[in-house]
Amino acid sequence: MVNEMKKADAVIVGFGWVGAIMAKELTEAGLNVMALERGPHRGTYPDCTYPQSIDELTYNIRKKLFQDLSKSTVTIRHDALQTAVPYRQLAAFLSSTGTGGAGLHWSGVHFCVDPTELRQCSHYEERYGKNFISEGMTIQDFGVTYDELEPFFDNVKKVFGTSGTPWRYAGAQISRNLPRFGSCAAASSCGKSAPGATPQRFSIALST
Ligand SMILES: Cc1cc2nc3c(=O)[nH]c(=O)nc-3n(C[C@H](O)[C@H](O)[C@H](O)COP(=O)(O)OP(=O)(O)OC[C@H]3O[C@@H](n4cnc5c(N)ncnc54)[C@H](O)[C@@H]3O)c2cc1C
Repeated sequence: MVNEMKKADAVIVGFGWVGAIMAKELTEAGLNVMALERGPHRGTYPDCTYPQSIDELTYNIRKKLFQDLSKSTVTIRHDALQTAVPYRQLAAFLSSTGTGGAGLHWSGVHFCVDPTELRQCSHYEERYGKNFISEGMTIQDFGVTYDELEPFFDNVKKVFGTSGTPWRYAGAQISRNLPRFGSCAAASSCGKSAPGATPQRFSIALST
């Protein structure tokens, strides 16, 4: 039977980090947003609270936060000559499932990109000469500079509530000071607004 749902201005497939951030941006711009998520709904409460969050059998052994690879998966090959085969055993690549996506079990580390990482080809050529990079190597600049991206990095830190002590190396402070926020990374994905944030207008339909 076909279920006819309320019309939405925008439909998002997959309610992980990217989907949740898009939903936040679009709803704040005044659109009605519908998100389709293949996995179960999980909220900050009760799913992410003690003692559920340390349930070893559910999460470590049965790996309930991840895609069930016996039902659907991706295919993988190590080079273009191999035949791609289904990925059936979870290892380093952990495909998430459920609202919040991998944002529910990430390690909580926000690395800041170094400006040279976005222009690595030019950087090495300037530093070591034109012949430093061998012919055939695919290294190239991103085509967008740190300064152009800086406002977006700044926004991401505010949305996620990134905070912490500046990174120091050999006595020198490398990263900048970050303010401490009251919100959490899951705030945008669980539908609970961060303190002071605009109330959200989005619905999630679970496709399981
Ligand atoms: C163990 C682990 C630790 C990590 N630690 C860090 C860290 O410390 N710092 C960092 O910056 N990054 C970290 N990451 C990476 C980060 O979590 C991911 O890059 C990020 O969550 C990806 O966001 P996404 O929205 O693209 O995908 P996801 O968050 O994976 O969301 C995708 C969503 O789409 C849903 N979906 C997929 N297909 C369909 C479909 N056909 N229909 C409906 N729904 C669908 C999935 O169920 C899922 O909810 C970590 C990742 C893992 C696995």
